[in-house]
Amino acid sequence: MYNSNNMKLESVGILINLRPIGERDSVARIFTYDFGVMCGVMRAGQIARKNRPLVGQMGAVAWNARLDSQLGTFHWEPEKNLSSPIMCRPVLLDMMNSAFALISALVPEREQYKHLYTQTIKLLEQLPTESGDAAYLQWETELLRELGYGLNLGLCGACGTHDDLMYISPRTGRAICKNCGAPYADRLYKMPLDLNTTYKFIERAAATQGTELPFQRRLIMRA
Ligand SMILES: [Zn+2]
Repeated sequence: MYNSNNMKLESVGILINLRPIGERDSVARIFTYDFGVMCGVMRAGQIARKNRPLVGQMGAVAWNARLDSQLGTFHWEPEKNLSSPIMCRPVLLDMMNSAFALISALVPEREQYKHLYTQTIKLLEQLPTESGDAAYLQWETELLRELGYGLNLGLCGACGTHDDLMYISPRTGRAICKNCGAPYADRLYKMPLDLNTTYKFIERAAATQGTELPFQRRLIMRA
């Protein structure tokens, strides 16, 4: 709904960041399905008794802003707390926080990222399962693809073989087979892909954007 002074956007989203502003309100960041990452004020976000906003909730969001103001205001109706099975397990919580911090730091605001949105929902659903670690690594490869750093690990980037894929090229993000990689082995990343390697690619994506990697991403490296 548009008129000359106001803009209203409605979607569903995931609450990915919340910080206090003053004594009652919060500034929230919501990853929405239709409009990507949005930032705005949640009135009484710190003192709400009912429907208190919490990071990790999924819900319905309406965002209102005057066209001449920077920060809009959110109306947030939480429908589901995707993070509740995650909250009590610190390792999983760190991964959720890392994903949310990476979205906040690297995904441009108000640009649609429907695929990444769907992948993020999937991540939150899979984190508490046995395949939680794999789900997180998969999510980072999806993030990299969305940021223009897609990895291609199915065949050797130099000769095309599917066999003996041993390395990953830091330059192209493609797999390299044992033979082709042998002369440069010390300059290549090792297969299989792990969080140390995705870290390096994400770090480069951040540097290209003039951003530093959020500390939450480093916390998941300790294992
Ligand atoms: Zn090769």
